[in-house]
Amino acid sequence: MLRTHTCGELRLTDHNTTATLCGWVQTIRDKGGVLWIDLRDRYGITQLLLEDGQTAPELFTTARSLGREFVVKATGTVIERKSKNPNIPTGDVELKVTSLEVLNPAKLPPFLIEDETDGGDDLRMKYRYLDLRRNPVRKSLELRHRMAQQTRVYMDGQDFIEVETPVLIKSTPEGARDFVVPSRMNPGEFYALPQSPQTFKQLLMVSGFDRYYQIVKCFRDEDLRADRQPEFTQIDCEMSFVEQEDILNMFEGLVRHLFKAVKGIDMATVPRMTYADAMKFYGSDKPDTRFGMEFVELKGTFDTVDMTSGKGFGVFDSAELVVGINATGCAYYTRKQLDELTDWIKRPQIGAKGLIYVRYNEDGTLKSSVDKFYSETELKAWAAHFGAKPGDLMLILSGDCAKARKQLSELRLEMGSRLGLRDPNVFSTLWVLDFPLLEFGEEENRWFAMHHPFTSPKPEDIPLLDTDLGAVRANAYDLVINGTEVGGGSIRIFNRDLQARMFSILGFSDEEAKAQFGFLMDAFEFGAPPHGGIAFGFDRLCSLFGGADSIRDFIAFPKNNSGRDVMIDSPSAISQAQLNELKIATIAK
Ligand code: ASP
Repeated sequence: MLRTHTCGELRLTDHNTTATLCGWVQTIRDKGGVLWIDLRDRYGITQLLLEDGQTAPELFTTARSLGREFVVKATGTVIERKSKNPNIPTGDVELKVTSLEVLNPAKLPPFLIEDETDGGDDLRMKYRYLDLRRNPVRKSLELRHRMAQQTRVYMDGQDFIEVETPVLIKSTPEGARDFVVPSRMNPGEFYALPQSPQTFKQLLMVSGFDRYYQIVKCFRDEDLRADRQPEFTQIDCEMSFVEQEDILNMFEGLVRHLFKAVKGIDMATVPRMTYADAMKFYGSDKPDTRFGMEFVELKGTFDTVDMTSGKGFGVFDSAELVVGINATGCAYYTRKQLDELTDWIKRPQIGAKGLIYVRYNEDGTLKSSVDKFYSETELKAWAAHFGAKPGDLMLILSGDCAKARKQLSELRLEMGSRLGLRDPNVFSTLWVLDFPLLEFGEEENRWFAMHHPFTSPKPEDIPLLDTDLGAVRANAYDLVINGTEVGGGSIRIFNRDLQARMFSILGFSDEEAKAQFGFLMDAFEFGAPPHGGIAFGFDRLCSLFGGADSIRDFIAFPKNNSGRDVMIDSPSAISQAQLNELKIATIAK
């Protein structure tokens, strides 16, 4: 080894011993007679000391030739520092240098290798290997490493077997768009990269593996929304001879183990909510439950009394749903603030037509934007229905049920943020259960599987497959943390006929179903056990644990928003020779 210690290791207890360190030059402070170098490696920073009369003059010459990020090797005696630095673990000592060697000089880096850097995103990504030298980025990857380690500890402890499934598989029409890879040996034919190992893990259950998991790369060629990566990692899991309850308990256990082992947090039992309630009370299938501010309906679903119709306010009269939230303590909002909030919710991204407010003043009076139509007595009744108190502000939307809920969900999150109710270091977990099996695509005019085509309907809802497809609930579940879906899965169909029926509902002809998924349906005829599973978005889980919004820094070499790796400059054109070999003559524009 070129070194005896790392740059994070030396302490006062090493006083008077000789040590050799290797690392990168962080800073140099040259006071003429004394010169200090901060030497950095993955483990920390140690101060090197050169002193007139004590250190050989040629070492000063070498030291003065150094620049930021030079790679050096220094040997010396560990001594106690005169002025200690309590902020770093090695801050009590310094290394009085007796030998200094440049292992490799370095060009001036294009941005500061410090916790707060002056480098913008593009520059950091182009020189990602330099960005990775920075503490916050390295720490994020260290956290990811611990998450992966602890996942393996838990899964191994529960008798799960890690099995690798292939990366070159087959393109299928359901789900997101596939990335495809041409096959040289089979001209004109293509592999697809897996969107998930779904069918393989189910086949492993047919094989009797019983408990499978894998920390696995998946690929989806979707339009990149902020913070989505074309390749991402899942903790993918499957179990045999289980019901939904078993899966929920097993994987609540995994998340509990991760919180404890990685963050030292004792996680409470994960509350459960049906999809229907999540939509009704939060307008979202992944509610952020760090704060309440639940939806209150003034008119709408069958169990709500209509508190708005027949007073001459056409907007509410014609609306399918009138629904609002109570922003505690926000009655002080000025007209200007309310106008700004109205503009915010009318932006095309959200698309509400308007926002109605009811201010519950401290003095007990009520003031609303619909005073013309509703008396103070009526507004008081609304306030009671909302559970509002003097000092609160009710914000109300109306319109088509699905749209109003979605818009109010955005408003709720925005108000949560504005009121400081979404602390990234507070964790609120939730199971969302009983998802609909199918959703109708208006544009395509057909039914789609809400989770995927292998998800089992609830046995008691199977008769509804004949009568009311939209009402069929699935044995499907999502784990939500702080309003982010971190995992999702289902109990699977394991019967050939039911699977065939499902494909037919999704618009596959018998031939198409056979061609695409015949292997799976065949397997179901050779003794398939009841099974189910789940997959967690590993990058997202890591970023949540790290208290970060972005998943980028939890991936060593991420792609940018156009799906490009700007460091290696990929994707890129390939040569005509390569194209010829693949029998791809022309590229369509
Ligand atoms: N394969 C599914 C997904 O990627 C997860 C599962 O059902 O286990 O969403």
